[in-house]
Amino acid sequence: MLDALFRPRAVAIIGASTKELSIGNVIIRNLQTYGYKGKIYPINPTAPDVRGLKAYKNLDEIPGEVDVAHIIIPAKLVPQAIDDCGKKGVKAVIINSAGFSEMGEEGARLQQAFLDNARKHGVRVFGPNCQGIINTDPELKAYCNFTFTYPEPGSVSVVALSGGVGALIMQALFDEGIGMRMYASNGNACDLSIPEILRYWADDPGCKAIILYTEGFSDPMDFLKTAREVAAKKPVLAMKAGRTEQGAKAASSHTGSLAGVDIATELIFEKTGILSFQDEEEMVRAAKAFATQPIPAGNRVGIITNTGGPAVIATDVLVAAGLQVPPLSDKSIARLKSTQLPQAALENPIDVVATAGGDQFRAAMEVLQEEDGVDSIFINFVTAPFTDTHEVARQIVEASRKGKKPVVCNFMTDLTQERYRITMDILKEGGIPFYATPTAAARALGALARYGRIRLRDIGLPERFSGVDAVKARSVIEQARKAGRSVLPAADVFSIFEAYGIPVAGWKVVRTAEEAVSAADAIGYPVVVKVDSAEIDHKSDMGGVAVNLRDAAAVRSGVEGMRRRLGSYGELKFLVQKFLPGGRELIVGATGSRGLGHLVMFGLGGIYVEVLKDVVFKIVPVTRVEAREMLDSIKTKALLDGMRGEKGVDKEKVASVIQRVSMLLADLPEIKEMDLNPIMAFENAVFAVDGRIRI
Ligand code: ADP
Ligand code: MG
Repeated sequence: MLDALFRPRAVAIIGASTKELSIGNVIIRNLQTYGYKGKIYPINPTAPDVRGLKAYKNLDEIPGEVDVAHIIIPAKLVPQAIDDCGKKGVKAVIINSAGFSEMGEEGARLQQAFLDNARKHGVRVFGPNCQGIINTDPELKAYCNFTFTYPEPGSVSVVALSGGVGALIMQALFDEGIGMRMYASNGNACDLSIPEILRYWADDPGCKAIILYTEGFSDPMDFLKTAREVAAKKPVLAMKAGRTEQGAKAASSHTGSLAGVDIATELIFEKTGILSFQDEEEMVRAAKAFATQPIPAGNRVGIITNTGGPAVIATDVLVAAGLQVPPLSDKSIARLKSTQLPQAALENPIDVVATAGGDQFRAAMEVLQEEDGVDSIFINFVTAPFTDTHEVARQIVEASRKGKKPVVCNFMTDLTQERYRITMDILKEGGIPFYATPTAAARALGALARYGRIRLRDIGLPERFSGVDAVKARSVIEQARKAGRSVLPAADVFSIFEAYGIPVAGWKVVRTAEEAVSAADAIGYPVVVKVDSAEIDHKSDMGGVAVNLRDAAAVRSGVEGMRRRLGSYGELKFLVQKFLPGGRELIVGATGSRGLGHLVMFGLGGIYVEVLKDVVFKIVPVTRVEAREMLDSIKTKALLDGMRGEKGVDKEKVASVIQRVSMLLADLPEIKEMDLNPIMAFENAVFAVDGRIRI
């Protein structure tokens, strides 16, 4: 179906206008200027022609079939126009007009009205309140859009919810000399969605890479599923604006405020294998490399340079991007010796020196193409005035064509001089991605390698642990709900943990000092006594935690002390718990996220959560690979391994707690917030000692 939209054979413009500066005129001008190969049917009730084309009074008068109709008339007339389109057999409409759901209730009603008509006739809707599409395919040249950049045909497709950002990206591609394949900016996206467009492009052989700009997801689950499939087929480069100090938000021990919508988008990108960028220029420059180069098989880069310093800068940037610049094999060095000038430095970077000509560049590239220890090639090419730069460019192109490894080039030159412009054109025609600085070039290669790593990463499927008593946990939640509780008492929390096989410190909930003593006798000293009340959140701050109680007398006085201090909270309950000192305090938490299920959080727990804010998030369900990644991505991960005589923690057991929490959340969507803070992690065991669940 999307063929009708992206490959229209005839386009009607409902609201065609003779006024030069109106959208109903600009779209026709764009179709004409760009060289649209199909038929253009302006519709205007009074004008006999528009921009030299015969105009029609209505759709019925049009002699042939219409694939796409632009709608550029006042919002209140749109439902009727769609009905007419349906009767004419129009397959898709691009509603450029605004005045719908973005304008409040009345607009939303109109949007629903035209959607009803569209569904009745099976007409697909692109927009409303949108720019439209472009297909640069030379066979078609469909510029169904009112913006102004005329892109060269190419292999990068762009989808942007925001027309402004779409135009920005399209212009940036154009300025970088990167061709574009298709473009879509779908505004309110009331019917045709971004996932549907991504799916269509995944199967478009002319599209090598996709750029995505979004400001959120109407159906995150749908996006998650589709994007994962698409990103496995071809690179999706994405940016999400509205980045804030998300890390800094990770402040309180209330998991709910630790994760915002922003984090969720970043997490969606991560989970699906989308390559995320924080800078639109960097994203566009990366697209330039994706447009022509293969994906490197690994992280090892061979550098060829004809000037020393820039290779040093490039090395720094490459290494910071997770790449390596390894030494070359003896065989490669011997081969270089026989082909390079006497002054050349035969290591990595290979400094072919400023006087090197095409032969030296070609020979160095051939060596790197055949060097097993290198996965990609980085070239620093300064257009030394005493060399034949055209020949150097030609040899770079030749050698890159013969090899299988990706090549990027830092091309340092003066483009106001014709000689060097020609040099640039040789690189451009030859499909060598080139950049004006070593940093830009190195980042582009870094992005290729990052996608290579993402493609190899298999997060696996979520584990289903056996021995889980989901029925029990559900009934605990049900009863709490019936009793009108939103914060669960300790007994419920620990029962739910136990039902999901999350190890907890031995515990019992009691009401009196005497009960506390007999519970402590049964659990075994030393114990901890904690107040258990829905109103008391941070127990230790209120004097509601007494640790290391070694005998009955200590337990008794612990309970009585809390009664005295916290008596104003009414009749209190107490949790008696095994005292487990000396572990590393970790936090595992969760928060509900609209439309996406839950996010799970992991980090350093106890008092450190607030001080270090060292936490990471993942979307439920979390697989074992992802749980391990969480342990590996906190800043203080070294503490998990132990240091200076301190023991490390059992990471696999911690990973299993994270997964069990994930499973619990997937089964119990009514949980709004939950945290296990701390879990006490030891060399061979882990125990949750504090938990909070809000439903
Ligand atoms: P809250 O977070 O409400 O203040 P916690 O139950 O987390 O209460 O207890 C506060 C701190 O007391 C924990 O971070 C931990 O250092 C210590 N603690 C609590 N329970 C235990 C226990 N069973 N064994 C060892 N230390 C504990
Ligand atoms: Mg706590």
